[in-house]
Amino acid sequence: MCAGCIRFNAFFLNKSSSHRSVIAFYIILQIVLLCQLGCSQSFVRMLEKMEEFDPEKVIEEFEAITRDAGKVQRETLKKILEENGSAEYLQSLGLNGRTDPESFKTCVPLVTHKELEPYIHRIADGDPSPILTGKPITTISLSSGTTQGKPKFVPFNDELMESTMQIYRTSFAFRNREFPIGNGKGLQFIYSSKQFQTKGGLAAGTATTNVYRNSQFKETMKAIQSQSCCPDEVIFGPDFHQSLYCHLLCGLIFRDEVQFVFSTFAHSILHAFRTFEQVWEELCTDIREGVLSNRVSAPSIRAAMSKLLKPNPELADLVYKKITGLSNWYRLIPELFPNAKYIYGIMTGSMEPYLRKLRHYAGELPLLSADYGSSEGWIGANVNPKLPPESATFAVLPNIGFFEFIPLKHNIEDQDQNQMDPSFFQIEHEPVDLTEVKIGEDYEIIVTNFAGLYRYKLGDVVKVMGFHNSTPELKFVCRRNLLLTINIDKNTEKDLQLAVEEASKLLGEEKLEVVDYSSHVDSSTDPGHYVIFWEISGEAGEEVLKECCNCLDRSFIDAGYVSSRKVNAIGALELRVVRRGTFQKILDHYLGLGSALSQFKTPRCVGPTNNLVLQILCGNVVESYFSTAF
Ligand code: AMP
Repeated sequence: MCAGCIRFNAFFLNKSSSHRSVIAFYIILQIVLLCQLGCSQSFVRMLEKMEEFDPEKVIEEFEAITRDAGKVQRETLKKILEENGSAEYLQSLGLNGRTDPESFKTCVPLVTHKELEPYIHRIADGDPSPILTGKPITTISLSSGTTQGKPKFVPFNDELMESTMQIYRTSFAFRNREFPIGNGKGLQFIYSSKQFQTKGGLAAGTATTNVYRNSQFKETMKAIQSQSCCPDEVIFGPDFHQSLYCHLLCGLIFRDEVQFVFSTFAHSILHAFRTFEQVWEELCTDIREGVLSNRVSAPSIRAAMSKLLKPNPELADLVYKKITGLSNWYRLIPELFPNAKYIYGIMTGSMEPYLRKLRHYAGELPLLSADYGSSEGWIGANVNPKLPPESATFAVLPNIGFFEFIPLKHNIEDQDQNQMDPSFFQIEHEPVDLTEVKIGEDYEIIVTNFAGLYRYKLGDVVKVMGFHNSTPELKFVCRRNLLLTINIDKNTEKDLQLAVEEASKLLGEEKLEVVDYSSHVDSSTDPGHYVIFWEISGEAGEEVLKECCNCLDRSFIDAGYVSSRKVNAIGALELRVVRRGTFQKILDHYLGLGSALSQFKTPRCVGPTNNLVLQILCGNVVESYFSTAF
């Protein structure tokens, strides 16, 4: 029997009898055709593709690798070190071919991006020797760069691509079991930013760009019924404003076929529908007349769209009727896309502040939170899609990297006390392995991957919520970097989010909302003080804003902050309201630096070195208030 037949037998015997007869008919038909073409290679390839279509098999594979996650972790580390043993970095650390976790941890230090930067830059500059990996790196990813104000380079290779697809397939298999989608399309707000060549001729782009440009991406999307309703020219267009407009237009053209709405991060979904509020009449005109608006000037996009856009007054009337029937845009998404089953994207961490507005657009449509990863590599898949985004967890895939965890506090009993402790997140212990983490505890993740990162501190804090078989299910807590600190006070991204949530409730009474927010430590005053920037959806009265400002100040309950405020070691918190559209300018600024819209995260704290963003914020302040809470 040939390889193709063996694979086919295994595949076929796994199926139920009714499923088998359909497959058998299909296969016979294909065999007849293929035999006529004399093409056995295609037969094997076709079987491979069909295997990809089997979600139960994907789930089975996931169950198998998580059953003894410790063993899989040791095997994965061995594979990484065997493949890359010849790399200069590992050679210099004296591993001498050893591949066990103990030797690895003894020889290889914990690092941040800063320590690896010189190696990565040599790779980007064209040094062909094995520097971080055995096989040369040919592509560089740019992280979204909102952490340090500039994008950082990280290596990207086939193995990272493969693990990305594994994550997509895994979460799709679980998602589709609970929320099956029919044949159709996805309205996917995805954008591929410009790729450029590094000094040494390597292709460089954001991680999402590198993924979307890879041929495997399309194959996998097809396999998991997640094809975009837009032509490639829209995704790869030169200007994201034009691409976004056409994404919306394609969504309307294929409105009955749209099965789900997606973007990598929830921010982009919200951004898309906020834009829709502004351009919907123009979209209707385009559909009515079958002519694309002049705002789309890129010839590639115009050519591709002209193939789809035909005069369709009925559709234009229908959309017009739907929109004018809405109250304050509530249920916009299900009204536009009647067959959509859910909205999907990363909704955790810094995306949580957007959930309220997203739910408003979504009405009864479920919001499903996507997986957890970074430009440096993926970590876990959401295998419990029914959980609301606020409780979403990510099961670590133990075969895509070697993961260690730095415990950030001792035990659960101390938790409340630690929350009040100014050194929260500063207490650092020896890293533990994947299967040694404890439920309820917080950790910083350390990643070793197939693309040349060894014991790399990702900078994210996660909490262990439980286990799937023997692999942990993580909840994303926040970036580890402290955001706001002046002296003994320490407030994280999460603390800021909670304070903003609390204070913005006061705006709700006036039917207003915080569109977006950021913060800054102003040390130019003595004493220094926290500045919170708010963009608000309309005009708020002075009294309510004063109350919001006091509420923000009181909502930072960190003991170091409260005690410093009481003795005026930290000055009164300042709330600065910025003009509508200010955060759009920040987004444009980052896109200009090469970030991709789909990877964008609003910087929640703007440091003194991030001059340009600070200038945008400060230059758009329309009013400011100082707290009188203390
Ligand atoms: P990037 O620099 O664009 O690769 O972004 C990676 C970072 O985005 C991660 O280190 C996390 O801080 C954040 N991130 C990625 N996935 C999630 C998620 N599911 N939930 C919360 N934050 C996430």
